[in-house]
Amino acid sequence: PPVLDIKNLRVEYPLTNGGTLVAVNDIDLTIRPGEIHALVGESGAGKTTVGNALMGLLQAPGRIAGGSISIAGKQINTRTGRTEGIVPGRDVGAIFQDPMTSLNPLFTVESQLCEGMLAHLKISRKEARARALDLLKAVGIPEPERRLGSYPHQLSGGQRQRVVIATALACDPRLIVADEPTTALDVSVQAQILKLIRDLADERRVGVLLVTHNMGVVAEIADRVTIMQNGSVVESGSARGVLTSP
Ligand code: ADP
Ligand code: ADP
Repeated sequence: PPVLDIKNLRVEYPLTNGGTLVAVNDIDLTIRPGEIHALVGESGAGKTTVGNALMGLLQAPGRIAGGSISIAGKQINTRTGRTEGIVPGRDVGAIFQDPMTSLNPLFTVESQLCEGMLAHLKISRKEARARALDLLKAVGIPEPERRLGSYPHQLSGGQRQRVVIATALACDPRLIVADEPTTALDVSVQAQILKLIRDLADERRVGVLLVTHNMGVVAEIADRVTIMQNGSVVESGSARGVLTSP
């Protein structure tokens, strides 16, 4: 099955004047294993609302007012206005703009990586540690043995985002939502992180919803693109097709 299948998704925020803002207006979106699907559009288009809804992070009183979501074949209950039954980390991995949003400053790299695994996978601490080392290697952290004991402030911005990506992969979710994953990073490391996300999609067959306002990022790594404007999809298709359309 697709790693993500959204049909007619509608998300609303109540306005203080009693009206309703339709932030996401009946959109469809499908992502297959190994595919990077860019969700683009200007600020306010509704991109982050889609990503947050998928991660179970939709801010109340915002609510899902219609449509269906299925993640890796699992139908998600949205009738309550929330995505119920999604376990963040296990079903959907998250990468946000600022790595410090995702990392606990008081936790070592080992704790950040192992916490979710110990909660969601039936493995021992020793197995989790071994998996953590493998993940750090996979995301290109040098001297991973030594880095397990580091705190976030002891890492560079690029290394922090690599640790976030490793954490997003820790429980082996089939879908990752990456919301502006390189916007807060030094220009010199942006391309490296994009390449890492591309390689992980190719090698692990994870599907990625890549929220961005940057067409350069789309050209660099996306397979497919959906363009949103005022909550609606205005164009959707292969990255090549969308980028070359007038
Ligand atoms: P971006 O354009 O990068 O998505 P925004 O500045 O639009 O960033 O939003 C940042 C955060 O503020 C998000 O968590 C979003 O849900 C929240 N937000 C955006 N617009 C509003 C609003 N009108 N009222 C309350 N919260 C908002
Ligand atoms: P984008 O990520 O494309 O910038 P958002 O999803 O952040 O767009 O916002 C879509 C629309 O929903 C905007 O009009 C924004 O102001 C509104 N919005 C986002 N979050 C909230 C919120 N928590 N409360 C009220 N309105 C919000």
